[in-house]
Amino acid sequence: KSGFISIIGRPNVGKSTFLNRVIGQKIAIMSDKPQTTRNKIQGVYTTDDSQMVFIDTPGIHKPKHKLGDFMMKTATNTLKEVDLILFMINAEEGLGRGDEFIIEKLKEIKTPIYLVINKIDRIHPDQLMLLIDQYKDLLDFAEVVPISALEGNNVDRLLEQIEKLL
Ligand code: GDP
Ligand code: MG
Repeated sequence: KSGFISIIGRPNVGKSTFLNRVIGQKIAIMSDKPQTTRNKIQGVYTTDDSQMVFIDTPGIHKPKHKLGDFMMKTATNTLKEVDLILFMINAEEGLGRGDEFIIEKLKEIKTPIYLVINKIDRIHPDQLMLLIDQYKDLLDFAEVVPISALEGNNVDRLLEQIEKLL
């Protein structure tokens, strides 16, 4: 079994941190500055019977100029071609304008989507329940998975759920 998995979400939600944890190497640039990751960086995670190719997809945001518009189209095309999209949000921040734009884009795409709620180490479990309620009906998510990419909580479970889908 093998598949391509695209990770999307606003800057700083933890996409590179997640990718680095899964792949176990510093392949994606981690930074507090938004959009340091300009290229599609891929990492491959293999188990005994599966291979997952992760793509750190930049450019899913409201374009401000022509180049941004081009990057946006490239990003959207990538999403149509992958087997699974991980839509990552920051548990601390909840729903923002940037997310609404991404959600509108995702409605045009048939690829299965997992909602990944990251940074759960920063919030109370009650707050997590509220977040899940707020988000779960916005799109037809195949799974909703809370994780901490930094501390590793629930990352193995997410990988298992990805493997099931492949
Ligand atoms: P990206 O822009 O989506 O690729 O986000 P990064 O992976 O660069 O992470 C942005 C910031 O959030 C960094 O300072 C990370 O250390 C931090 N971060 C990422 N994941 C977590 C997490 O699960 N918990 C906490 N507390 N911080 C995190
Ligand atoms: Mg990044």
